[in-house]
Amino acid sequence: MSAGGVAGLRRFLVARPAPVVVERCDLCAAELPGEHGHLVRPGERALRCACRPCSLLFDAERVGTDGAFVTGYRTVPDRYRRDPAFTLTDAAWDALQIPVSTAFFLLDSTRDGVLACYPSPAGATESELGMDSFDDGVGATRLATLLRPDVEALLVRRPRDGGTGIDGPAALRCVSECFLVPIDACYRLVGLVRTTWKGFDGGAAAWAAIDGFFADVRARARDLRPDEGVPTR
Ligand SMILES: [Zn+2]
Ligand SMILES: [Zn+2]
Repeated sequence: MSAGGVAGLRRFLVARPAPVVVERCDLCAAELPGEHGHLVRPGERALRCACRPCSLLFDAERVGTDGAFVTGYRTVPDRYRRDPAFTLTDAAWDALQIPVSTAFFLLDSTRDGVLACYPSPAGATESELGMDSFDDGVGATRLATLLRPDVEALLVRRPRDGGTGIDGPAALRCVSECFLVPIDACYRLVGLVRTTWKGFDGGAAAWAAIDGFFADVRARARDLRPDEGVPTR
């Protein structure tokens, strides 16, 4: 772009750039880069930002009961996987009674069963599922056998169901997709929906943000290999 073009554009930039917020490790207060790791405590729906040393030091699985102390924290992994063979019938989805076409599923080690969560303009909505309705549908993917409690989730996007809820234009074009993602990615999606959603149908900005989120997940996700996970059917 020419210098004149930039100057011409600048006149329309009324909003000042957002101040740079320095993120810090919630455990040792070290400065963090924009992309950093997180810790969770089972049963809590909150993330703690963590520097690399703290993610290693405070991970209960690594420290174990033989460690100097048991922290109760778990480090959120950074793997993304996609099940290329994933299919889901409408009946199996309907049995879950989730009113929208995007949801994530997690195992909470402090409770029985599976939690189904979906983003909404008010934040994340949670519902507890029986293992049966889960196993017959979303849980049939081999990804479910890899899922680590508390720190990972199965993220499902279904084709649009007629324009209600958070179903949007991009969902129309795709078949059901299922990813294994770190739980902090789900928090990112929940935050995007909460902050961009406008009115009844979300609006173009919300849909662009959600499509961008899924494009990023697709780019990070590696397809499940035939030797990964246990066949469930
Ligand atoms: Zn730290
Ligand atoms: Zn963070």
